[in-house]
Amino acid sequence: MSRSLAELADIDVSRLNGVGPKKLAALADAGVESIADLLTYYPRRYVDRTAQAPISELHEGDEVTVIATVKRVDTRPAGRSRRNLVTVDVGDGRSYLHCTFFNQPWRARQLEVGKEVAVFGKVGRFRGRLQMTNPVVDLLGDRTGRIVPIYPQTGDLRTWELADWISQALRRSDPVTDPLPAGWRDRLNLVERTWALSQIHAPESMPAMLAARRRLAFDELLRLQVALVMRKRATERQAVGIAHRLDGGLVGAFRARLPFPLTAAQERAIAEIQADLAKAIPMHRLLQGDVGSGKTLVAVSALLTAVQGGYQGAFMAPTEVLAEQHQLAVQALVAELPVPDQEGTLLEERPLRVALLTARLSASERTKVLAGLADGSIDVVIGTHALLTEHVQFRRLGLVVIDEQHRFGVEQRAALREKGAGDAAPDVLVMTATPIPRTAAMTVYGDLDTTVLDELPPGRTPITTVWARGEQAEADAWERVRAEVAGGRQAYVVCPLIEESERVEARSASEERDRLAAEVLPGLRLGLLHGQLPAVDKQTVMTEFRTGRLDVLVSTTVIEVGVDVPNATVMVIEDADRFGIAQLHQLRGRVGRGAQQSWCYLFGAGQTAEAEERLGALERSTDGFELAEVDLDLRGEGTILGTRQKGINDLKLASLRRDRELVIQARSVAFSLVDNDPTLGRLPDLAAEIRQLIDPDEAAFLFKN
Ligand code: ADP
Ligand code: MG
Repeated sequence: MSRSLAELADIDVSRLNGVGPKKLAALADAGVESIADLLTYYPRRYVDRTAQAPISELHEGDEVTVIATVKRVDTRPAGRSRRNLVTVDVGDGRSYLHCTFFNQPWRARQLEVGKEVAVFGKVGRFRGRLQMTNPVVDLLGDRTGRIVPIYPQTGDLRTWELADWISQALRRSDPVTDPLPAGWRDRLNLVERTWALSQIHAPESMPAMLAARRRLAFDELLRLQVALVMRKRATERQAVGIAHRLDGGLVGAFRARLPFPLTAAQERAIAEIQADLAKAIPMHRLLQGDVGSGKTLVAVSALLTAVQGGYQGAFMAPTEVLAEQHQLAVQALVAELPVPDQEGTLLEERPLRVALLTARLSASERTKVLAGLADGSIDVVIGTHALLTEHVQFRRLGLVVIDEQHRFGVEQRAALREKGAGDAAPDVLVMTATPIPRTAAMTVYGDLDTTVLDELPPGRTPITTVWARGEQAEADAWERVRAEVAGGRQAYVVCPLIEESERVEARSASEERDRLAAEVLPGLRLGLLHGQLPAVDKQTVMTEFRTGRLDVLVSTTVIEVGVDVPNATVMVIEDADRFGIAQLHQLRGRVGRGAQQSWCYLFGAGQTAEAEERLGALERSTDGFELAEVDLDLRGEGTILGTRQKGINDLKLASLRRDRELVIQARSVAFSLVDNDPTLGRLPDLAAEIRQLIDPDEAAFLFKN
């Protein structure tokens, strides 16, 4: 009987033959409870019988899969350490291969004589015989067929049991309805879903498997994109926004005071944001730009647009330290600007008021700021996401700027609406500190419009990056620091990242400062900056560095964002292999801000191949968008996506890295589908699959007319 995948999600796997209580528990452990779960429990890989090497043709050093039968199994303690050793001979009719397993006693039970196995590993030689040590072994069971799927190994589940249940499930639900209209399938050259499900589990050929995979991966991406596009459209449809006024004069006064012209990209970004702000639809826009592309200016101009019409703006940073730094930057940009009165007449001017709200404030300071927000005398507040908690009340909140790393989900949207003026939802601008790859942006921020600052302000000199390997290279780096300081310029030294705690990190930074002062940079004026310093001390150190009274700033990653001293031309990053690409790129962006040639030295051995790739990439490229793609390749999507979008868990086959084209296609199809049929009334199967992906509150919001 024909069923949709959504219906199959309501049918329990216990209905299948051969699934008793024990297997049911094992399946549940693997996350498989319904028939739909089972059908989307995909093989980890495939063994193609026709593409296997006969044992007689193996050579030492080959990395191969061998299909053979277990001939002999032997267990004994081995060597002086008495480690458990299992030796297994497998044969393929003509020849034998010897396999040894150290400390895997369970292999003796797994590998019974007479069973067919696929053995994968590197061929070595021991006492003249070819052998494999600790190979990967998959039991093939009695399965025939040219291509054998291998399922992820979990607990008590045998890969052929899974294959058997899946084939039962497929037989009984054939055909599974296809949520994607035939016209779209043709246009996108996608195979039908039922065929795809059967071919991914029991492929006729590897090309058939790939076609199946492409279809099913597309479905995962499409579900996610449809949910995102629906969220975007539902917000536009349902929420009332604020039509900000663009003629209040404050933005103009701000711009007139800037000592430089805006870049074309900044002009474009500001225009896009202003167009959104002027509409009575809440803005949800992502501002992406490389380090130093001038995002802060764009954000401030948006905040001032809100303020000039009598609204308040909030600027949320991911940490308290960053909030403090943003506050300094914003304060410097807007100091003394005259604010029109609430009617916007410019008759009763008063200076713009910017306040900081963090947990470090004293109780009385905090009370004052809260009062100022409630009575409207504070125009712009800067803080962490604690700004959205209940006891923070705004008089007329009109715009929220969120500096990256914040999950911005349903709950936050609701919290925001409550803080808005009357029934109107404040506008939201999300900024990322460093670029993220296009496909990741589409997925993580797919419910937002996007603005990209793809241009750096003129007059910057490219940074020369050197991965300093070895003592001589490090000595050269310190020599450069001394030479630049001698020439009147300044340097940063970034201390290792210590996960343990901010306190330990602060201590080690302070020890490093002492060491450098005594041994490496004697006679230079060294300052110390870390997150444990009281805000006043931090400001003092920064002021001394900015005004040239310090030559070198020894710092933890506190300086990652916001610090802006164009006279600083060298940065040394110690233990750079501990940092991620994005963070290194962000740190490096603290130099190269003036007209002088700048250098960034990365210390670190590159403990792993991945660390080597990271440091090598930074040496090669200063383009944040390019580095973001490398990062995606290296780390995979998990770390980049985080848990911001619920549907991410649904991505079992699709990869933002390998399937870049599919992501883009899925997004454009999602727009077409949703814009033709906003609540998917004519695509009930797709609608049902989306409902399963998201929580009920979210579904109620998306499917409301
Ligand atoms: P981001 O936050 O994107 O890394 P910032 O907003 O901190 O970049 O800006 C980096 C530096 O560039 C700051 O010193 C800022 O004053 C300066 N800047 C921004 N826009 C321009 C411009 N159009 N011309 C010259 N300098 C600019
Ligand atoms: Mg900035």
